[in-house]
Amino acid sequence: MRLKRKIQKSQIHLMSSVKETVLEINLAHLTHNYTVLKSKLRNTTKFLAVVKASGYGSDAIQVAKHLEKLGVDYLAVAYVGEGIALRKVGIQTPILVLHPQVVNFESLIEYRLEPSLYSERVLQQFIAVVTNSKQTAYPIHLKCNTGLNRLGFGTSQMEAVARLISKTKTIRVQGVFSHLAASEALEERAFTMQQITDFKTIVAQVIPILGDTPIVHQCNTSGIFNYPEAHFDMVRSGIGLYGFGNDSKYDLELRPIATLKSILSQIHTLESGETLGYNRGFTAIKTTKTATIPIGHADGIGRQYGHQKGFVTLHGKRAYIIGNVCMDMMMIDVTDIDCNEGDEVIIFGEEIKATTLAESVGTISYELMTSISPRIKRTFVGKI
Ligand SMILES: *Cc1c(COP(=O)(O)O)cnc(C)c1O
Repeated sequence: MRLKRKIQKSQIHLMSSVKETVLEINLAHLTHNYTVLKSKLRNTTKFLAVVKASGYGSDAIQVAKHLEKLGVDYLAVAYVGEGIALRKVGIQTPILVLHPQVVNFESLIEYRLEPSLYSERVLQQFIAVVTNSKQTAYPIHLKCNTGLNRLGFGTSQMEAVARLISKTKTIRVQGVFSHLAASEALEERAFTMQQITDFKTIVAQVIPILGDTPIVHQCNTSGIFNYPEAHFDMVRSGIGLYGFGNDSKYDLELRPIATLKSILSQIHTLESGETLGYNRGFTAIKTTKTATIPIGHADGIGRQYGHQKGFVTLHGKRAYIIGNVCMDMMMIDVTDIDCNEGDEVIIFGEEIKATTLAESVGTISYELMTSISPRIKRTFVGKI
């Protein structure tokens, strides 16, 4: 009887803990974040969800399917291949491709993706490809550079571009947009306000020339929070959907959708003077209990997190990463933590957020999350 109870207990233990490294995606949190972000907008403002870079390292397909069910107006990816992957699983929502390459224009058209056209060169090439494919009024988004100086027609070029497009039947301006350079940096408010003013001026200039009423859009997540006057017809949100607001105040309203979990593969005890890992990156100065975790720099936890900079959470306690992070595994100091092989560790999630871990090595949540390799299994909870 007692043995039976013991087995049942250990089975429950097995079921509740992870058996390998996983990135758990909480779709209920995605719904929550979408709802919070939408609540900042006027009822008529459209919502574009940015799902580039595998949905910021989560899973672009599951995230896009979920958002499509919730009624999102637009999706955006960076490159054509990312858009094709979404179409291939049946996503019907319009998809903006932020940085398409000319070599992919034919497949972009084949999969009904909408390009951002940002220079004379790509505009001319796109018109040529559309003409060749015998399409008319193909929807495009005109990108205007108002100060980020990354992609976009200069403000002084926009009028001529609009005139050129108004004379062709091949393409139709579905959107006119720009991107804020420092929407999360409140000390750059004057610069951002100038970007918004310049964009408004350009929009007022080009709309009468185009004759159409394009969707006007300028804000990313931080723009949604900090610049309601710039929401225009649509906003483009990425990081906010994944649970981060680039500001501790806004972080409180959002919930990280991704939790990176792993397990303790093996525990070792080092005596004072013994060393750990490649190039003997850590030397024990007293008896030290260490644990090896199956995740390494090939999975997105780079070597910069080693040598006690980064940490994981084990039974609610912080355990620092020691020595050099290896390709497929890393070691943590568990000297003061009561733990066993097979126990679960959290690398980031709701309590220790990706922002906190990223900041421990001087980077941002965007980089940490988008680095999590495809080799790590994605699991899903909270489906609607
Ligand atoms: C990535 C990207 C976004 C999303 O930005 P977040 O800060 O993640 O909300 C919006 N617009 C453009 C042009 C982008 O490249």
